[in-house]
Formats: sequence, structure tokens, C-alpha cells
Amino acid sequence: MKLTKHNLSEKTNQVYDVIVVGGGAGGLSAGIYLQPYLLSSLIIDKGKARSLWMQELHNYLGLPPDTPGKTLLKQGKEHYLSVGGDLLNAYVEEIIDEGETFLVRVKVGRTNSICVEFRAKYIIAASGIIDHLPALEKMQNVFDYAGYNLHVCLLCDGYEMRDQKVGVFASSESAAQVAFSLGWFTPHITVFTQGLFDVSSELRQKLKEHRYSLVETPVKQFLGENHQMNGVELEDGSVINLEAGLISMGSRYHSDYLENLDLEYQGGNLITDQMGRTSHPRIFALGDLKVGMNQVVVAAADGAMSATQIWRDIRRQTGAKRNLSNLAA
Ligand SMILES: Cc1cc2nc3c(=O)[nH]c(=O)nc-3n(C[C@H](O)[C@H](O)[C@H](O)COP(=O)(O)OP(=O)(O)OC[C@H]3O[C@@H](n4cnc5c(N)ncnc54)[C@H](O)[C@@H]3O)c2cc1C
Repeated sequence: MKLTKHNLSEKTNQVYDVIVVGGGAGGLSAGIYLQPYLLSSLIIDKGKARSLWMQELHNYLGLPPDTPGKTLLKQGKEHYLSVGGDLLNAYVEEIIDEGETFLVRVKVGRTNSICVEFRAKYIIAASGIIDHLPALEKMQNVFDYAGYNLHVCLLCDGYEMRDQKVGVFASSESAAQVAFSLGWFTPHITVFTQGLFDVSSELRQKLKEHRYSLVETPVKQFLGENHQMNGVELEDGSVINLEAGLISMGSRYHSDYLENLDLEYQGGNLITDQMGRTSHPRIFALGDLKVGMNQVVVAAADGAMSATQIWRDIRRQTGAKRNLSNLAA
């Protein structure tokens, strides 16, 4: 059932088996497994998933490679609702471990927002990440091309850039290393530092050996039309023609709400076992937020595994007998 400000009160008294934070590819997949296991679940999603930004879903079995992320999410939400899941468009602010249950504090609505609390036995953290983009004076100029031929994912779009003239927009020396992996697909590479970091003599030498160009003058704007970037204008007025771009500027991890819980991380990614269990036995993590490969197919598989492990846990705890009083209304 789709929850809104108006029907929320029906649900705040119940203890869900699982609350899933994030309704992207991974969270929806988890929900699509949880409900048929006859577990009660609530997916809380603030929207603007990374998968929404994906204009074409590449490398996914069974779907045409021009399927936009928004189609995947729309179908996923419909599927989840059709198997009886609860879905709320809201922002999870905090999760508190109460022992047997978790208290989940949620802000609903951007204007006239209200704060509500839900409880669950298990949490699935499926809140993903979001990529940092070049900070230009006019950000709309970046949004016009990002996700089209100004890519952020080498695994997803390396093939699209094969033999093209590609600009790599890096924010640090380590981020610039992606140029050498991109070299598998194309030899025509220019690394743009935007003047954000000092380039070491080792990196200069390596770029030279690979015959890649290096531009340290900041970019003023991307050039192009109809979402197809065809070059950049630098701050000094010069223009460099390109056929595609690859942004490598790191990401922001959507994990603020987990701050009070003592979980193990590797960088910003949550460490889990094979089934998605974090260092807390009743918190699972999946998709881009956990250590692994940032791909839709992986997030979807993670969702299936987390949901299945939680079902196993609950079955074992209840001696394989379903507790009917806990089922969602
Ligand atoms: C431009 C682009 C192109 C891509 N192309 C491909 C491709 O072709 N093939 C491929 O396999 N992969 C591709 N990817 C990668 C793919 O999008 C991700 O790997 C996938 O979306 C990860 O799914 P997820 O469920 O972990 O996270 P997401 O899809 O990002 O979902 C996380 C959700 O959680 C929500 N959330 C975050 N914090 C909170 C909070 N506190 N409260 C409530 N909700 C919250 C977010 O708003 C979001 O809706 C691409 C990514 C980008 C950016």
C-alpha cells in the first residue's frame, strides 16, 4: 500500500519484519522477495535514486539496453505494491537500536513536513550513493549532459566510449587513475584536473607514456546540444573537442541515518557478509552502499539475498511457524 501523510497512522503502531531504507533497484528487489516470503515490509524512499539518473540501462539481462532507469523503478514499485508491500516517499533521519526492534525516525514531506516513527525487527540499508559532479558556475550546464554522454560509470558505459575522444574529469590523483582503465576502450584520452589537485611527476610521466593529454586549466562550461556533449570551453577561452566524458570525482554515501549504529565500513561502503549482513546481525546492506560492484544487476541480486537470509533468520527464530499477529494489515 502506498503510504501518505493521511494514512500513515494506521501503520505506525505495527512492528514490521523489515524496513528497507531506499527504493532504488536494490531496495525494490529486496521488497519483491520479502513480501512473497510472507514477511511484512516497508520501503521508505526519498526519491532521486541513482538509477533514476541512468538514461539507458546497460548490461542487464532481459531488458533492452535503452531502458531508462525511471522505467525500471516504476515497474519495480508497481511490482512491490502488487505483492502487498508498504511504500512511503520520505526521508529516514535516524535509526535507533532498541534491542529487539529498531526505531526508525522519518521526515515526511518537503513542505509542512511531519516527523513519524516506525519500528522493525530488521533493517535493510539500500540507500545507495550519489556521484559528485564538476562544480561549475552554472550547474545546469553539467546536468544537461551528465548521465547522457557525460558518463559516471566506466563499467556501465566503457563500451559506449570505445574509440571515442574522451575527457576524464577527475578530482584527485587517485581518481585520475580511471583514465588507464578507460584505455581498454579508447586510446584518445584527455585528463582534466580542473586545477583541483597537484599532479605528481609520476602521474605526468605515466600519462605521457600512454600518450594521454593533461589539461589543468579549469573548465568553464561543457559544449553541445540535445544532451550530447561535444567539448569543453576552458576558463582561458580555449575549446577542446570531445565525443564523450567520464566523471571521476568520488561519491557521497547516503548513510547519515546509520551514524549512531556501530557498523563496519571500508571507505564509505558498508562491509557485509555474502548474504548482505553487516557487522550488526539484524542490519543488512546492499547495492552501491555496500562493498561490491555498483551495478543494477548486483543491487537486484543483493536484494534477493538479504531478503532470503532475513526469512531464514526469522523462520529459525520462530521454529518455522509464522507469527500471524505481525503480518501487515
Ligand atoms: C548515470 C548513471 C548510469 C548508470 N548506468 C548503469 C548501467 O547502464 N547499468 C548498470 O547496471 N548500472 C548503471 N549505473 C549504476 C546503477 O545506477 C547503480 O549501481 C544502482 O542504481 C544501485 O542501486 P541501489 O539500489 O544501491 O541505489 P539507488 O538506485 O541509488 O537507490 C537508493 C535510493 O535510496 C534513497 N535514499 C538515500 N538516502 C535515503 C534516506 N535517508 N531515506 C530514504 N531514502 C533514501 C535514494 O534517494 C534512492 O532512491 C549507472 C549509474 C549512473 C549514475
